[in-house]
Amino acid sequence: MNDAPTKLLPEDVVAISEAAAGAILTIDLDAIRENYRRLKTRLGSVRCAGVAKADAYGLGAAQVASALMKEGCDVFFVALLAEGIALREVVGSEPEIYVLNGLPPGSEPEAVAAGLCAVINSGAQLKAWSAAARDARRRLPAAIQVDSGMSRLGMAPAEVEAVAKDTGALDGIDVRYVMSHLACADEPRHPANEEQRLAFERLRAMLPEVPASLANSSGIFLGPPYHYDLARPGAALYGINPTPGAPNPMLPVVRLQAKVAQTRRVEKGTGIGYGHTYYADGPLSLATISFGYADGWLRRSASAAWFEGIRLPFLGRVSMDSIILDISAVPPGRLREGDLVELLGPSQSVDDAAGHAGTIGYEILASLGPRFHRRYVGG
Ligand SMILES: *Cc1c(COP(=O)(O)O)cnc(C)c1O
Repeated sequence: MNDAPTKLLPEDVVAISEAAAGAILTIDLDAIRENYRRLKTRLGSVRCAGVAKADAYGLGAAQVASALMKEGCDVFFVALLAEGIALREVVGSEPEIYVLNGLPPGSEPEAVAAGLCAVINSGAQLKAWSAAARDARRRLPAAIQVDSGMSRLGMAPAEVEAVAKDTGALDGIDVRYVMSHLACADEPRHPANEEQRLAFERLRAMLPEVPASLANSSGIFLGPPYHYDLARPGAALYGINPTPGAPNPMLPVVRLQAKVAQTRRVEKGTGIGYGHTYYADGPLSLATISFGYADGWLRRSASAAWFEGIRLPFLGRVSMDSIILDISAVPPGRLREGDLVELLGPSQSVDDAAGHAGTIGYEILASLGPRFHRRYVGG
């Protein structure tokens, strides 16, 4: 690693001032800590990781990981090697960092240099990590991921059998976990959950007796048979409901507010926005906010903002940098240039916004763009 380390420190991320930004994203690190504590309470003595892939679901891996470490979290999961290298700079040398998607062929020395744990998804990855251990002249830490039925990542059953038969297969590898991932954990009655758990039991029995890990956020709520030795929550830490259809047991974490750039009155019949997809059906008061699809607000996402509990519907198309709101329900003069309206927060949760868009809270958070002023509270 001769290149300058990738910095992910708060000063880099909070670079856009509140005055200069079109929108403000507030991230409540205390709420993330409380969510971690709530999950730990459910898990009892089971270890609890923090999943911080995709910049901690868009919320800032550096800040999130630092907050979780204050709650005693000492194991993190990221998706990519690049994310692991960046996170290592932030968390210091102690915490374990697992790279879920596996190490790209040839990248093993970089992973070793950053002190990362490989997630081994195939026989070829196992061989490569074993060879890296030989080169490094020490045992290298890893989790072996098995595919218990999601068909996404991990060793297929036949590969697990081959590894079990090959006495030298695990040479040089410090296998810390056998892990797998649930496809339908957010649907507690889905038969795939129990099928995967049983498949996981069978696959695990072929490998050395090491601790096991199966549950993501929703998996934790499937109950103790799914907890094993290490849980891997992401979404629930960030306030997304891990029990869809039931009340959210987690605290909300994000608030997103956009600035009013201009207000105006229009007469009945006026065309509004690109393509004139909307015509005023009477005189209307409008506000244009400095926030659009370039900020990650998918064009199909929730179609209203909120101000002091009043719903402000979007009119016409979402533009790249702006959205036109109908503010006719707000008393005249009450909402002005520079004022903030809410896109995510007490009036509209991440899950609400996702529901309107026919998507999931994960996509709403992971899409949030880099153009906001980011305000971290607590932590
Ligand atoms: C993303 C991911 C998690 C975390 O899932 P959540 O649903 O966000 O809790 C856990 N394990 C694996 C393998 C993942 O890819």
